[in-house]
Amino acid sequence: MERLSEAHPVPERWSGEPGSAGTTARPSTEAEGLLTVDLAAIRANYRQLGALAGGAAVAGVVKADAYGLGVVPVAEALAAAGCRTFFVAHFGEALELRPVLPEAEIFVLNGLAAGSEAACAAARIRPVLNSIEQAASWSREAARQGARLPAAVQVDTGMSRLGLAPADVEALASDAGFLEHTDLVLVMSHLACADEPENPANAAQLGRFLELSALLPEARRSLANSAGTFLGPRFRFDLVRPGIALYGGNPFAARPNPMRAAAKLQGRVIQLRDVPAGTAVGYGHRFVTHRPTRLATVGVGYADGWPRRLGNRAALWHGDRRLPVVGRVSMDSMVVDAGIVDAAPSGGADLQPGDLLDLIGPRQTLDDVARAADTISYEILTSLGWRFERRYIDEPAGAPA
Ligand SMILES: *Cc1c(COP(=O)(O)O)cnc(C)c1O
Repeated sequence: MERLSEAHPVPERWSGEPGSAGTTARPSTEAEGLLTVDLAAIRANYRQLGALAGGAAVAGVVKADAYGLGVVPVAEALAAAGCRTFFVAHFGEALELRPVLPEAEIFVLNGLAAGSEAACAAARIRPVLNSIEQAASWSREAARQGARLPAAVQVDTGMSRLGLAPADVEALASDAGFLEHTDLVLVMSHLACADEPENPANAAQLGRFLELSALLPEARRSLANSAGTFLGPRFRFDLVRPGIALYGGNPFAARPNPMRAAAKLQGRVIQLRDVPAGTAVGYGHRFVTHRPTRLATVGVGYADGWPRRLGNRAALWHGDRRLPVVGRVSMDSMVVDAGIVDAAPSGGADLQPGDLLDLIGPRQTLDDVARAADTISYEILTSLGWRFERRYIDEPAGAPA
């Protein structure tokens, strides 16, 4: 995938800080949305989870382009922090990651796709076998090669999504052909309610995982995603599989976020206008000004993954100043109330075309935006479109992070 940051290097003067642009002429090549990914924060989150996990190893879940943040720089940063095991969802994602991290252990969560067996083995990618049929085709591939091929097995402990049903686990455990040809390196399952620590489903899934994994040959075991890692030592086993926590999302539904923010999202002001009281704004005229108002149009819309339902609901931030989104969010833009005309210093007079406003930043977190849009941080991050220029910041090599 082409990365815009490589295609269009951004000149120094658009340093990404609000108010630093300082020019009214807006070069046409400049991105109207900017996603700044803090790789040092991702490494810090990885180390924080490692400290919490105690003896368990910490894998990196980098499916869906590392939750939209860019799988190549993110996976490299995680590897630099000591991560050796990675999970993606699709086989194609694993193939993209393999040349980036030639020595890493890469698992494919969605399972072994029919027809991909030989290519999967050739790239040393480890399928998560989710059914008897997948286990059988992996064994057949191994037999064909005269080899024993490594794989994970997933057991369904109560999510009813992926993995072997209990009866299938018993069948597999007594399948001599499977055991002869498959090197079982990991037994895993996934928690449905880990973000609600008090939910009794967590203990029930843990119990079933202990029973089902005991039927299979000795292998590393893994149950916990980000939230599961915080549920306590009994949930961590040999390997934990965080995704969202690495990227700064809150692993809990209703507790303070222990992670460090890793993503900043900004949109550029592309036009300013002063309008009198009583002016209707945007599609459907869903907002009407009630005072003379400076309106700023920002070049980010729902086509960029900024939720349409944030119209008249959310705000953008210019430093510490809150600018409410007024009217509906359009496909390619939205309008914010930049203040009362000429009411310096708190009015809109300080804004210029080209300035960057924060959509996600210090005053409005990823989880704040998700809550306002009635969704979760995962969906916000993974929806961010290709028009956002991805920019990566890091601390200098050797600096403590
Ligand atoms: C996506 C996923 C994870 C990571 O989940 P987070 O909640 O982002 O930590 C772990 N395991 C499986 C099976 C997943 O599908």
